[in-house]
Amino acid sequence: MRLRPHHLLCTQSYSGKGYDEAFVRNMNQITQKLRGPEPVPVEIVFSTDDLCAHCPNMLGENLCRDNDKVLHYDKMTARYFNIEEKTYIYQEITEKIREGMTPGLLEEICRGCEWYPVSACKRVLCQGVQSTEPCTPLIQDDKTSDSSLIENDL
Ligand code: SF4
Repeated sequence: MRLRPHHLLCTQSYSGKGYDEAFVRNMNQITQKLRGPEPVPVEIVFSTDDLCAHCPNMLGENLCRDNDKVLHYDKMTARYFNIEEKTYIYQEITEKIREGMTPGLLEEICRGCEWYPVSACKRVLCQGVQSTEPCTPLIQDDKTSDSSLIENDL
């Protein structure tokens, strides 16, 4: 699995909300695997990744609609937690992130992200408790019609 640095944060605090149905379905599958009992190797890439691949904001290889913003999140996450472009065990690197995370640092990295106020970021990332909530797909068609932010029932 390929993840960009700041998605090491998003995959921990994701609580079932996303950009559209395809994004949420993919995010549910990925987080279910990452939050399971088996160690998962993740290849860190400083580019678009397996979450971006199903995101409506991905405009091309290494190009997000909010590129400046997401590159900033990546840069800050990589800098503060010494993350390099190599393979890590997800459970190990995310534990290290939770140990080092503080509310102030999280604010510095994630300020400006639309999901920061609505997801479980502070609760999960600043209290050292890994979420084991399996975000299974519960999207209903009528929920996708009038909003750019999709929310399931979890
Ligand atoms: S918003 Fe950008 S960085 Fe985030 S998943 Fe979509 S394409 Fe990737």
